[in-house]
Amino acid sequence: MTEEAIGRARAGDARALARLVSLVENGSPELRPVMKALAPLTGGARVIGLTGAPGVGKSTVTAALVGAYRERDLRVGVLAVDPTSPFSGGALLGDRVRMQDHATDPEVFIRSMASRGHLGGLSAATPQALRVLDAAGFGAVLIETVGVGQAEVEVASLADTTLVLAAPGMGDAVQAAKAGILEIGDIFVVNKRDHPGAQETVRDLRTMIAMARRGEQDWKPPIVTTIATAGDGIADLTAAIDAHWSWLEASGERDRRRRARAREEVAALALATLRQRMGGLPGDSRLDSLAARVAAGELDPYSAADELVAAASGG
Ligand code: GDP
Repeated sequence: MTEEAIGRARAGDARALARLVSLVENGSPELRPVMKALAPLTGGARVIGLTGAPGVGKSTVTAALVGAYRERDLRVGVLAVDPTSPFSGGALLGDRVRMQDHATDPEVFIRSMASRGHLGGLSAATPQALRVLDAAGFGAVLIETVGVGQAEVEVASLADTTLVLAAPGMGDAVQAAKAGILEIGDIFVVNKRDHPGAQETVRDLRTMIAMARRGEQDWKPPIVTTIATAGDGIADLTAAIDAHWSWLEASGERDRRRRARAREEVAALALATLRQRMGGLPGDSRLDSLAARVAAGELDPYSAADELVAAASGG
């Protein structure tokens, strides 16, 4: 089933592709042979991450970028990660009005990912879904996440190019500074240029980026202004993404980032495997009996943890 499903997904069969992504989400036992078969097929997709506070226009910008990449005849994948939602599946984003232009395009694949999957969160499930799309021949994969805390940093670790979105009058600039996303942005987008205060937001951002990234390497993150609802500035944005891509390739940074991504993937999966073997779930007898001994003062927690890890590593 593996080879055939992969072949069909690569040929553009949306159902075969959806089934492969579902394997990732469900942690199916078939996942291992599938991932083995996919590995040599990966590496061709450009991965673009979008992050920013709710309401700045991530979905609208994503939809506009999907349109722009479709014009280049690329197959485009969208993975929407909502760290606050326990639900996976196609409904969330697919239902949203601005995606409807693309919902029926067989060359566009849209999926909402829950970040609290059994695999251990965004750090495990989303990269595997990304692998599936990459191997299936998607030229561009957009990963959109709501800007809350850790998730946006994780998104940056997956992406070749990270877009940090802000909008005027939302206090985003200050939020950005707090959340540390000034450091992760490769390109900053001030969306809603049609709203008052856009130029001030650009100015604030420019100052803050300069302070946060003083003395850094040769990529100077540009600030692009857009009116995503009208498609204004989207060509500037894709041009900036192209320029960043060229820089990534020329500087060797692309390979460095991809190795860092792989490192996180492997570490996350190894941790998830360990956790599973240790039986982190309530009701597991090994952990329960160790816990009982720790609670009774018969065993210290460090020794108990060592025992658990040793048992798990032994299989
Ligand atoms: P998200 O929560 O970051 O994904 O933001 P959305 O893409 O859902 O956009 C939030 C709201 O802002 C929606 O009502 C959009 O139609 C609107 N919006 C998005 N981009 C623009 C823009 O450039 N100008 C204006 N005026 N409204 C926009």
